[in-house]
Amino acid sequence: MVEIEKLVADTHSFFMNGNTITYEFRQKQLMTLKQMLKDNESKIYRALKNDLNKSKQDSLTTEIGFLYTEIDFALKNLRNWMTPEKVPAPMTHKGTQNFIFKEPYGVTLIISPWNYPLQLAIGPAIGAIAAGNCVIVKPSEHAAATSTLLAEMIADYFDQSYFSVIEGEQEVTQALLKQRFDYIFFTGSTNVGKIVMRAASEYLTPVTLELGGKSPAIVDMDANINLAAKRIVWGKFTNAGQTCVAPDYVYVHEKVKFKLLKAMKKYIRTFYGRNPLKNDNFTRIINEKHFDRLTSFLIKGSILHGGNVDRESLMIEPTILDYISWEDPIMQDEIFGPILPIISFTNLEDALYKIKLGEKPLALYYFGDDYKTQQQVIEYVSFGGGSINDTLYHLANPHLPFGGVGASGMGAYHGKYSFDTFSHSKSILKQTTKFDIPFRYPGNKINEKLV
Ligand code: NAD
Repeated sequence: MVEIEKLVADTHSFFMNGNTITYEFRQKQLMTLKQMLKDNESKIYRALKNDLNKSKQDSLTTEIGFLYTEIDFALKNLRNWMTPEKVPAPMTHKGTQNFIFKEPYGVTLIISPWNYPLQLAIGPAIGAIAAGNCVIVKPSEHAAATSTLLAEMIADYFDQSYFSVIEGEQEVTQALLKQRFDYIFFTGSTNVGKIVMRAASEYLTPVTLELGGKSPAIVDMDANINLAAKRIVWGKFTNAGQTCVAPDYVYVHEKVKFKLLKAMKKYIRTFYGRNPLKNDNFTRIINEKHFDRLTSFLIKGSILHGGNVDRESLMIEPTILDYISWEDPIMQDEIFGPILPIISFTNLEDALYKIKLGEKPLALYYFGDDYKTQQQVIEYVSFGGGSINDTLYHLANPHLPFGGVGASGMGAYHGKYSFDTFSHSKSILKQTTKFDIPFRYPGNKINEKLV
């Protein structure tokens, strides 16, 4: 506790001294961050393998490569983002110049989960650094190898009072949340998001909450079924379904259900082999607690594909569950694992209405060819973000904000949105001293006429 208090106090002092304000400082830190990742690539691969059995390809594309893209994008645009934005003014403001000045908040706390333990700890930090803040990261204790490596790397490459990592269980997070921060960026479950928001209210600290939810993949009658199956299988089983925006369940038109299931089975075999439990490139479940939670879902419904599990290695095969109802336990909360329930519909409007009755999803995927229907889905249902005729891909475009709405979160980041998230937009009006328009003052002619 004393250690946490001292670190937070030192970090506040570092910020107060104005160290982080210049373009040159921020640019240098971003370059150092990239170098840190480059120098430690093999250690990162090993840590992700230890924590989740992530393959090298998955670690490169969804963790390290993603961060390189974000850092390069920030470096390329930083000067532009930092330049105060000139805005127009009404006639009453003649002689003034008006700007929006992006100001760093100060000391930011980033709390991250275990599913993409590197990307979700460093990704927000890129925005915080670019915007001129100091950073303290609290990684998830459940991805222990990555957490330890993060702490070591960041201590090696950065001034501890500027950018540091605090490791530990949830008690450590709770101790951190008692401190005063200028911004809190949380990624994790909706329940813990509420704890974070409650704690933040003590000092009226602004928050971004990147949470979860049940993200549907809707497959309509006119969809390209083969591509829908391929992209859903990829989106669902990447990282063994432990992705916040993974399609949680498939909601398919009755008329194309059989064809879709057949194609999905084909792609599961193509991507993960006939025995995924022996596939060394298939991600495992993070721990026994989640393994037991997930395997308990296999009791209800009918296993159409997969269903084999191995508790020793914490592996669950990509599994399709048919004959599931909305009342079954698997449909009550986010699944966050490689089990894909199938529910069918006969009328799209009813299906959309059913989704609207639940909490707002973090993502929604619609597969269908008709432009008007695509627009109807986008306009009619509220969700964080999504893709039409694809899954997950929207989150890898740095020009798109990534975040939830309602129970799936608040605020957004990636690309410039990360910079904006970690910046206060300060309004500045510079008044002329060459003249002074009298109408606002008491006693001038306009006021007399009004009287
Ligand atoms: P979690 O909420 O259990 O944990 C997240 C962080 O909070 C961890 O660092 C943990 O140490 C801390 N924590 C846990 N319990 C706490 C408590 N009682 N008090 C204070 N701190 C506590 O989430 P998780 O299991 O690590 O991650 C899975 C969840 O995160 C899923 O719901 C998933 O959808 C969500 N998620 C969201 C995104 C996104 O970008 N929206 C990304 C990844 C994961």
